[in-house]
Amino acid sequence: MSHKPFSSFEMAQSQFDKVAAWLELDEATRELLRWPMKEYQFLIPVRMDDGRTKIFRGFRVLHNDARGPGKGGIRFHPQGTIDTVRALAMWMTWKCALMDIPLGGSTGGVICEPHNLTLREQELVCRGWVRQLHRDLGPQIDVPAPEVMTGAQHMLWMLDEYEALTGKRLPGFITGKPVGLGGSVGRLEATGFGLVFILREALKEMGIPPEETRASVQGFGNVGQHAVRLYQQMGGRVTCVSCWDQKDATSYSFKKESGIDLEALLNITDRFGGIDKKKALDSGYEVLPGSAWLEQDVDILIPAALENQIFGDNVGLIHPRVRVIAEGANGPTTAEADQAIRERGIFLVPDILANAGGVTCSYFEQVQSNMNYYWEKDEVLGKLDVKMTAAFDSVLELSKKKGLSMREAAFFIAVARVAQACRDRGWV
Ligand code: NAD
Repeated sequence: MSHKPFSSFEMAQSQFDKVAAWLELDEATRELLRWPMKEYQFLIPVRMDDGRTKIFRGFRVLHNDARGPGKGGIRFHPQGTIDTVRALAMWMTWKCALMDIPLGGSTGGVICEPHNLTLREQELVCRGWVRQLHRDLGPQIDVPAPEVMTGAQHMLWMLDEYEALTGKRLPGFITGKPVGLGGSVGRLEATGFGLVFILREALKEMGIPPEETRASVQGFGNVGQHAVRLYQQMGGRVTCVSCWDQKDATSYSFKKESGIDLEALLNITDRFGGIDKKKALDSGYEVLPGSAWLEQDVDILIPAALENQIFGDNVGLIHPRVRVIAEGANGPTTAEADQAIRERGIFLVPDILANAGGVTCSYFEQVQSNMNYYWEKDEVLGKLDVKMTAAFDSVLELSKKKGLSMREAAFFIAVARVAQACRDRGWV
């Protein structure tokens, strides 16, 4: 099936333009919020294990910091582009505002394929990224976090480099750190769990008991795995998950009608969220093409891989049974597909709400790091649930009041808050 390449940033800008018109924002505010306030593009030379030097390309984009220091992940991906990073940074601004946490939006990345790098080489990429940027990062400036193909170890290397350069212990510099070294309990599962808190509220609103539902999930990494765990604990059945296969350079879907056994599947999954095809077959899974996750006879779809996965050409493949889509990934649905989903009456919970658990818990982690006092897991997850549920309620209320989709209502609230902060500061 053809997949037209979409510009994620153009999509993010057109989402913004629509809301800016509703809010009747003036010209200067529109110009300010349509673009990132700062962008960095730089090179990272790394001496590889074979002795040769390889040059990696790095990015950091700060979209807006009117409401607080920049906050956002660092993605390692071979197809990384400044366009995607800009879009992710803009979505981070809206997400933090929607969750009403005092942070702005940014995102960074490195064009690299971590599958093909040794741990030492990855460490040097992390340290090189911080060396290029350290003057423009910090607990009061811009705070990085894990994203696709980065995790706690990468965050710790980055923290260590930052502390070496500044000569201080500053664990609030970065979030997603290992527990015991400045990390927060609950951060690892926060995005997936937060998504399920929201899903629980969506099902409640629709009068659907979770234990009578089944779901199909695209992506089996940090977000997908933890979403599956809590959704299953809530009584739901996951019948299909999909992931990227690095060796075959394609994606596959893994189906088990009776429901996947999460622990057993994790045992045959690598640290990048890739499931071993042969072992899955031996364990009784049907191995289907990557696109099959979308066509499953399920009540709930959870895209939790990458952007632009549900688009005009494949949206028609969604099974008539599907009632809810909860966007774990950022920007998984194009504008064309979004419209088709709305016309079908599917309840879609947008990314800036559904996957906001990660940044919310990152904020909790930063607060704990800055205090150097760490909370118990129940406290972290309890606070997360309160924040997620409150945000869901405010989006639902506005969507009903104004006849907007959940996405439109979420953007409406978020953009209004950021525009107000810019006005209050006297920027516009
Ligand atoms: P990850 O690297 O841990 O996992 C990504 C998963 O997606 C892997 O299982 C990978 O195999 C799979 N995948 C990649 N390309 C695919 C494709 N074409 N088809 C099917 N599967 C594919 O990443 P993650 O941290 O779980 O992030 C996933 C998504 O969630 C991203 O869009 C990210 O921006 C978003 N997100 C992550 C967080 C977080 O806290 N990690 C927070 C908010 C949003």
